[in-house]
Amino acid sequence: MTAGKPILVLGGGIAGMTAAIEAAEAGCEVVLIEKAPYLGGRVARTHLYFPKLCPPACGLEVNFKRLRNSSRIKILTQAELVELSGSAGDYAATVKIAPRYVTSACTMCGACADLCPAQRPDEFNYGLSKTKAAYLPFAMAFPDTYVIDRPSCKEACTACADACKYGAVDLSQTERRETLQVAAVVAATGWAPYDAARIDGLGYGRFKNVITNAIMERLAAPNGPTGGKIVRPSDGKAPREVVFVQCAGSRDENHLPYCSTVCCAASLKQAAYVRAQHPDSKVAIFYIDVRTSGRLEDFYASVAADPNIGLIKGKVAKVEEDAATGDLVVRAEDVLHGKQIALHADLVVLATGIVPQTQGLPAGFTVDDYGFVGNGKAGLYPAGCARRPEEVSASVEDATGAALRAFQCVVRSAHHG
Ligand SMILES: Cc1cc2nc3c(=O)[nH]c(=O)nc-3n(C[C@H](O)[C@H](O)[C@H](O)COP(=O)(O)OP(=O)(O)OC[C@H]3O[C@@H](n4cnc5c(N)ncnc54)[C@H](O)[C@@H]3O)c2cc1C
Repeated sequence: MTAGKPILVLGGGIAGMTAAIEAAEAGCEVVLIEKAPYLGGRVARTHLYFPKLCPPACGLEVNFKRLRNSSRIKILTQAELVELSGSAGDYAATVKIAPRYVTSACTMCGACADLCPAQRPDEFNYGLSKTKAAYLPFAMAFPDTYVIDRPSCKEACTACADACKYGAVDLSQTERRETLQVAAVVAATGWAPYDAARIDGLGYGRFKNVITNAIMERLAAPNGPTGGKIVRPSDGKAPREVVFVQCAGSRDENHLPYCSTVCCAASLKQAAYVRAQHPDSKVAIFYIDVRTSGRLEDFYASVAADPNIGLIKGKVAKVEEDAATGDLVVRAEDVLHGKQIALHADLVVLATGIVPQTQGLPAGFTVDDYGFVGNGKAGLYPAGCARRPEEVSASVEDATGAALRAFQCVVRSAHHG
């Protein structure tokens, strides 16, 4: 059964993929648009999931398979919504699609990248590494085709097209637009890390060995810039003393006034990464409150049971660097013992919060005081971290709910002509 017009899903992270798959498997046509050249969102850049410490790759592969097997889902990558008009059941959505310059004839042989003479910062690794201008976003990327970042190419270079013996590189592609008639829109545009360079005193952007939790995921990941080795960016050495700073910019009126809900569990998880990889290391976690609600409480208890992981209640005031060694000193208040302390660290990880991504959303959606997306006009539904900060399982449930509401819209509009 197919009922009525399609649902448009904005964002191909875990929430957007879930909304698309659930709606399609219930019988609805779906158009899923993603602004990046690949699906998976932030989850694709995560090393392991808390609390089970299992790789997200399994869940992603299952979702990619369901997408591949669905004849009802049309996927447009490097695509963004530029205009939306109409009303519930009858929206006209104009989408612009940037050229990939590589067609579905791509076999992923990699000859284009091998012969490409230009490089670009790899945004997948938060700029910690580079790719060629002809690149595969990551090993299990979906769609499984290379992409050419044309602005990074050397002028008039055609090396990738010349190298491709399958004729899959088409440098004549241009931006195109499509107007779609859709019944409802699900906004699953997700989150970005808070810009840690805006936080005074913690040294991010000035001291190489101060990193963020998002970067830590990439350092720990086998497909990351260090091949999965957690090392200091300044000298590649294994860190022996690692300090995590919770609420870096969160629950702070000058930055993000809200709690991002996942950062405590993320730091506990990352402390476990450090301890598993460097058995002689020590970890300290400075926190205001440890917020690991529901079933995450057991995970908190199990990580905190490690005698080499210390949890210290106190807000970090300052991080200082010894420029000669790259070593750091973390100055903070130890609230429970009522004293100021200074801890030596080889590596400091700032647990920065989640910033909702709302750029490019149609005006019909509402945005709350914190910038998260609310229900808008009838037929417009938010899902995942664009709606509120949440872990993956909650994003999946949220997206399933949004898909159902969008589907109701499709059915209503089909019945009313
Ligand atoms: C450091 C850290 C570690 C974490 N670790 C875990 C963990 O171990 N376990 C867990 O359960 N949760 C974890 N989380 C939370 C997890 O990352 C989120 O729950 C998950 O990413 C939410 O998925 P999403 O689809 O809502 O958003 P995203 O993953 O951000 O996906 C959104 C997608 O939308 C795309 N997009 C954005 N704007 C547009 C637009 N205008 N048009 C088209 N596409 C657009 C983006 O490119 C992206 O692909 C962690 C979070 C942090 C900060």
